[in-house]
Amino acid sequence: MFDKILIANRGEIALRVIRAAREMGIKTVAVHSTADSDAMHVRMADESVCIGPPPSPQSYLSVPAIISACEITGAQAIHPGYGFLSENAEFVQIVEDHGITFIGPTAEHIRIMGDKITAKETMKALGVPCVPGSDGGVPDLATAKKIGEEFGYPVIIKATAGGGGRGMKVAQNAAEMESAFMTARAEGKAAFGNDEVYIEKYLTTPRHIEIQVFGDGKGKAVHLGERDCSLQRRHQKVFEEAPGPAISPEERAKIGKTCADAVAKINYIGAGTIEFLYENGEFYFIEMNTRLQVEHPVTEGIFGVDLVREQILVAAGEDMSFGQDDLEINGHAIEVRINAEKLPNFSPCPGKISAYHAPGGLGVRMDSALYDGYSIPPYYDSLIAKLIVQGRDRAEALARLERALGELIVDGIDTTVPLFHALLQEPDIHSGNYNIHWLERWLAEHMAD
Ligand code: ADP
Repeated sequence: MFDKILIANRGEIALRVIRAAREMGIKTVAVHSTADSDAMHVRMADESVCIGPPPSPQSYLSVPAIISACEITGAQAIHPGYGFLSENAEFVQIVEDHGITFIGPTAEHIRIMGDKITAKETMKALGVPCVPGSDGGVPDLATAKKIGEEFGYPVIIKATAGGGGRGMKVAQNAAEMESAFMTARAEGKAAFGNDEVYIEKYLTTPRHIEIQVFGDGKGKAVHLGERDCSLQRRHQKVFEEAPGPAISPEERAKIGKTCADAVAKINYIGAGTIEFLYENGEFYFIEMNTRLQVEHPVTEGIFGVDLVREQILVAAGEDMSFGQDDLEINGHAIEVRINAEKLPNFSPCPGKISAYHAPGGLGVRMDSALYDGYSIPPYYDSLIAKLIVQGRDRAEALARLERALGELIVDGIDTTVPLFHALLQEPDIHSGNYNIHWLERWLAEHMAD
């Protein structure tokens, strides 16, 4: 096992990794920009290294600075968290070339899943059901129009290198194809340097269901059920839960096994998430994330396992601490993402926290790097806290969420907490009756300025 690991991240996810490491008796190294000298992850780690100025390209994304920090401190492994360098295959290669262990999948697996066309082809070959669409890239508009006719409108045109909701355009009919095709291509080129696009049938009322998988890198893998992350704003998740209210135990077992078998076949190592759209009882693969997800705590809650501990174990060459038969769902968990943003426009709202009080009590977990007097810097993501609640069933979890939100105090800045208070008044939230378009429609009705 490692003596010391470096966490190439900041905020709540850096704390999350430090906590797991500490329980395993592993020392931790935090890295930080000059804007984060007073950040909680720096205070909590055993050691810290300043790696550059505030803008991420010069600090949290600076590969030479992070490798040097490892060499100076003698850290034997790097945990990337999520975002930043976590899905950068080149980074993983450089880390390994320096004799440092990357706590995550191999560069090859990251590369395969980072290109959406290759990912889809790979998953299809492994027996995972995919959204009907073009076979690979679509070279020109004439081919795009032919595919539109063949599959029937609406269709979605996606950049193979796309991510974060960028490089995707919907064409409702043949007349919209030209502009949708050209725009998706141009966005792919501008944002990711690759203008290759492909086409999928556009599903009109799906839920976003993702399967958590975990592999030991030696051909063994398990699934940890699904998370329903259908409540999204601009393709960003804001409310996640496990188990999914629309998924039956039989469906879970079947799609879960398909996913676990698929990643076992490629000797996948570590945590991964296979994302699906789910409509009329069918699952359709959209992409795989080769890292720990922001919403992993809901899965940890219902299965009672520590996914970060497990990532560190398998990265060190040890066996996983559980097998499929050890995994049993216990209750229901919900996470809400609290951002430093001002409603109704969700405009970023960094600033100084004048008072902070975290909720507690039975079934409440607060993953946050906030503290009294902390100044949220304006340079990074606006996520400031994840409130995760768990109950014996969904109704209890929802009641607990409302109670916990009521206890939370974050003074001095605006946050998205009022959004969740309002959502908890909605019958659809209580019945679990929502799809990926529900929140956008609700926001248009309730938060128009
Ligand atoms: P990104 O990598 O940018 O997050 P994804 O492929 O994961 O892109 O898709 C993001 C979101 O876009 C999905 O959660 C869903 O809301 C929507 N989406 C993607 N593909 C389709 C599709 N075929 N039909 C309907 N909605 C889709």
